[in-house]
Amino acid sequence: MRRPFVAGNWKMNTDLAAGRELAIGLRSALNPHPPGVDVAVCPPFPYLAAIAESIRGSSIQLGAQNMYFETNGAFTGEVSGPMLRDVGCAFCILGHSERRHTIGSVGPGGAVHGEDDALINRKLKAAFAHGLTPILCVGETLAERESNQTERVLDRQVRGGFAGVPAIQAARTVVAYEPVWAIGTGRNATPAQAQEAHAFIRRLIETLYDAYTAADLRLLYGGSVKASNAAELIGQPDVDGALVGGASLNAGDFAAIVQAAGRVNATATASR
Ligand code: PEP
Repeated sequence: MRRPFVAGNWKMNTDLAAGRELAIGLRSALNPHPPGVDVAVCPPFPYLAAIAESIRGSSIQLGAQNMYFETNGAFTGEVSGPMLRDVGCAFCILGHSERRHTIGSVGPGGAVHGEDDALINRKLKAAFAHGLTPILCVGETLAERESNQTERVLDRQVRGGFAGVPAIQAARTVVAYEPVWAIGTGRNATPAQAQEAHAFIRRLIETLYDAYTAADLRLLYGGSVKASNAAELIGQPDVDGALVGGASLNAGDFAAIVQAAGRVNATATASR
């Protein structure tokens, strides 16, 4: 049985004092911790060490929002896997849609050229090499959904992200399905849309690997998850938790999403 996982992506938000306050608030809101749910927060790089202190001894784990695939050297502005481990990270978000589509060089027509699947794949392998669990983000833009390209895009991103990754690591990877049109827009995918995309990704992992790997892989939904929609989304058979942006910046709201995941898990366990 897959253990539900809820991760908070703070993006480029908070300052040091607000980050600490948020982490401490979350720590007390999750005491007692809903049984059977993994929880992580992913603050900005400069605050990782401080937030690691704020959550020390609690059930909350630490993640980063990005990393570079090299270990050290002349890579100005980049952060490596060993550095993230050093400050207490267990997870690293990779290939977030903002890194694929928002941050990068601007080409003709205003298209942003951000991270591609080959770069994300190198980062994913480096994350495992340095003891981090990657949270690989995939998802289609609105134009791609409206032109019936969703499965083609997910196929390319999943195959590209997992290229050359052995089954034992694939099974431990967390994949976040985050439709770009749902991120930060207040417009979440419907539970049926989320389930359809998650089932597609799980079937693809089974094709690329085997049924055991597909059954173990945790698939999170991300895109305007709130306390009010979390239970229905996480209650879908192939949705194993959530990657949460905006709502993770409020301790009470994020804790309510974790608690919703705990209730879904308790119901599923009781019905077995
Ligand atoms: C995200 O940043 O990964 C995200 C899902 O953001 P939001 O919850 O704000 O849509």
